[in-house]
Amino acid sequence: MQTILTLDNLSKNFGPIQAVKNLSFTIEKGNVYGILGPNGSGKSTTLGIVLNVVNKTSGSYHWFDGSEGTHQALKKVGAIIERPNFYPYMNAVQNLELVCKIKEVSTSKIDEKLELVGLLERKLSKFKTYSLGMKQRLAIASALLNDPEILILDEPTNGLDPQGIHQIREIIKKIAASGTTILLASHLLDEVEKVCTHVVILRKGESLYTGSVEGMNASHGFFVLQSRNTARLKEELERNAAIGSIKEDGDLITAYLNEPMDASTFNEEMHSKGIVLSHLVKRKESLEELFLEITKNLS
Ligand code: ADP
Ligand code: MG
Repeated sequence: MQTILTLDNLSKNFGPIQAVKNLSFTIEKGNVYGILGPNGSGKSTTLGIVLNVVNKTSGSYHWFDGSEGTHQALKKVGAIIERPNFYPYMNAVQNLELVCKIKEVSTSKIDEKLELVGLLERKLSKFKTYSLGMKQRLAIASALLNDPEILILDEPTNGLDPQGIHQIREIIKKIAASGTTILLASHLLDEVEKVCTHVVILRKGESLYTGSVEGMNASHGFFVLQSRNTARLKEELERNAAIGSIKEDGDLITAYLNEPMDASTFNEEMHSKGIVLSHLVKRKESLEELFLEITKNLS
């Protein structure tokens, strides 16, 4: 596994505000990473630091194996962290030719990248005639002109209509499928769920979860229960090794599973202990519920 980016205890303060707190994670080649968190959780600041446009306060990061300086390494990184801005009276090709000149890369890939983002047919239209989604797609094409090792996107679908959002997500998946590593920041759980393989969840600059998107949803689920004899039910639940924690809400009891168990097995077990359940439903948290649970204000 080739490492693209390593963060080690990275922190950033803006005066009294700690925007990023002891953040550590690594990005491996070929995966799609999401930095997920509500507004103000430190996503853009984190991207700004590793792209060398925001100074870190403490900690460290390095690109690739750390053998080259950040400036040199960033030549292999494609990033869009601001609203795309191109010359309004120039067409897509002219704008991208200019980008190639500035970045000192060949213009040979312009058509290929415009095709990838679905703008080949509109390549001779002036930038000012583009929709917001087309502008964003042109920015993606622009960031890919030098075939970067990694593409970095900050809130890539913000402000777009549903069709525009869908197009951008499909393009991101296509780029990932071709082997380019991707790191995107988003406050949208469903975006990360749909597009990413790995996720770093941030709340107030702190990582609450780092790992696979699948792993985020690895819980075994829970039973929602009711019985005329709540006290006896609770007693049995506490004794049951398969049950982790219990929550009470009126006469409804939620029992979280430590290990896999289906509802009928559980029902039989309770029945054999003389407990009659008047309500038994097995459920699993949706990713959304988990996300809200993880990011809810604990203070
Ligand atoms: P996100 O991208 O997750 O919405 P940001 O990284 O933009 O979050 O911001 C994280 C925190 O840092 C916020 O509290 C924000 O107000 C603060 N912040 C960001 N940039 C600056 C800045 N240049 N000066 C002062 N505070 C900032
Ligand atoms: Mg941001």
